[in-house]
Amino acid sequence: MTGYFTVFMLCTALVVFVWIFRKDSRSLCVLMYHHVGVATREDEAAFFVSADMFRQQIDLLLSSHFHIVSLREVERAYQTGQRLPPHSVLLTLDDGWLDNYTQAFPVVKEKKVPVTIFLSVALTGVEKDLLTWQQVHEMHESGWVQFASHGAHHRRLRNLSDAEIIEELAISRNVLTKALGTEVLSFCYPYGAFDRRVRQLVFQTGYIMDFGTRKGINRLPWKAHQPLRRAHVMAGESLSDFYRQLHTGYKRSIRCAGKYPDRLFSA
Ligand SMILES: [Zn+2]
Repeated sequence: MTGYFTVFMLCTALVVFVWIFRKDSRSLCVLMYHHVGVATREDEAAFFVSADMFRQQIDLLLSSHFHIVSLREVERAYQTGQRLPPHSVLLTLDDGWLDNYTQAFPVVKEKKVPVTIFLSVALTGVEKDLLTWQQVHEMHESGWVQFASHGAHHRRLRNLSDAEIIEELAISRNVLTKALGTEVLSFCYPYGAFDRRVRQLVFQTGYIMDFGTRKGINRLPWKAHQPLRRAHVMAGESLSDFYRQLHTGYKRSIRCAGKYPDRLFSA
């Protein structure tokens, strides 16, 4: 009886070990930022990570077993079936806020880490707190910032007709391709709002990867059954919150996750 029990325990331990190994090494954590710097309005404060904390988070990634990868590497891995490095992390910033240039970009250049900015092209260079096209060009030419699509006007695509959705998707892709001379293969849903119809149109328009706001870590290889999940990096989080998110996509236990700002991102 003891022998059976020992064998059972050994098998259980093996299964757990394999599961943990698979979970950690064959995964992609996509970090979602919006602003880097100090908020001027209280209602936006949750979306601001201070430049100092941003720097500390990157230092933590660089000094740990995680590998920061570029969006191009993720796209290529998906297209070719090649493996990403174990414990891959992709840094993304949504909307193209001006502070991405003034606060985040200096850190990105100094630390030499790739980041992705999802841009709403019709608002770029128009709204005063968003990036100008000159800044977009400078960041693109540095080689550390890749731009991908966040639609043209940052609209909730679910509420639009097929023709309007296609216009949003095609304009943003064409404008970015023409401005930067690069292929644009990834799309990020404004407000995280999508449904089956929207998703089909995203892929029909030529994108190969889509990013949502649902929390979590992506198991690899990504099967495209749902948009890539992201971990929300928000104001007031400790480095241990950040570290926990890298493994689970949540800063505390999954049970507690509902109390923090999922509602801000859901449509
Ligand atoms: Zn957005």
